[in-house]
Amino acid sequence: MGILEVEGLKRSFGGVTAVDGLSMSVEEESITGLIGPNGSGKSTTFNLISGTLESDGGTVVFDGEEITDEKPYTIARRGLGRTFQQARVFDEMTVYENLLVVQTDDDKDARANELLGLIEMHDERNSFAQDLSGGQQVLLGIARTLMLDPDLLLLDEPFAGVNPGLVADIRQLLVTLVEEEGKTVLIIDHEMDELSKICDEIVVLVDGKKLLKGDPEAVREDEDVQRSYLGG
Ligand code: ADP
Ligand code: MG
Repeated sequence: MGILEVEGLKRSFGGVTAVDGLSMSVEEESITGLIGPNGSGKSTTFNLISGTLESDGGTVVFDGEEITDEKPYTIARRGLGRTFQQARVFDEMTVYENLLVVQTDDDKDARANELLGLIEMHDERNSFAQDLSGGQQVLLGIARTLMLDPDLLLLDEPFAGVNPGLVADIRQLLVTLVEEEGKTVLIIDHEMDELSKICDEIVVLVDGKKLLKGDPEAVREDEDVQRSYLGG
């Protein structure tokens, strides 16, 4: 059993079925990619898993317990953290304040300092978030999520609009989190190349359904993927 098991998940908006009976599982201590064209239901899937949206059907099991349609805060407390497609940092707070504002029971200062080291942003601790580059804001957003020390991290397009140097930094951070802290990462992107570099497995979503799941090489070589997604 995976750390995350999604079964028959559904959600419509009016006449649009965004997520259409999706089943997928994520192995513990893996980096799993969720890829698909624009509008294929990737972000909606994250919103359903993290409790930001209510489902129309299906189940989400995290760490062996059903969490379907629980409140976002409850799900985060259980150890399932997520970032949003648009980095949600507080522009007019400093980097350090952005970390401290997260509600935790632990020693916030110690954790915040540790995370500043992890994202290599000690020098920017007193900079306002709005003065950071897009990539640094992504890193800060990930660090904010890590304040709650989640076991599973859902990241929605962390590489979008980020310069190549910082893309490499974000990639390295994710590998470190899995290899050294035993975390699990589920990451959305719409490009195969970036995901292929770090993912153990990739789930391809088309029209709110899983087209297939496999290692990056198998996914690239799949004829259905080439036809329906890569346009080959
Ligand atoms: P992706 O992240 O793969 O680009 P989304 O999950 O954002 O796709 O969207 C899937 C479909 O659901 C799209 O057709 C989108 O327009 C629709 N959708 C998503 N969120 C909403 C919403 N809050 N209200 C209405 N339609 C939505
Ligand atoms: Mg999206």
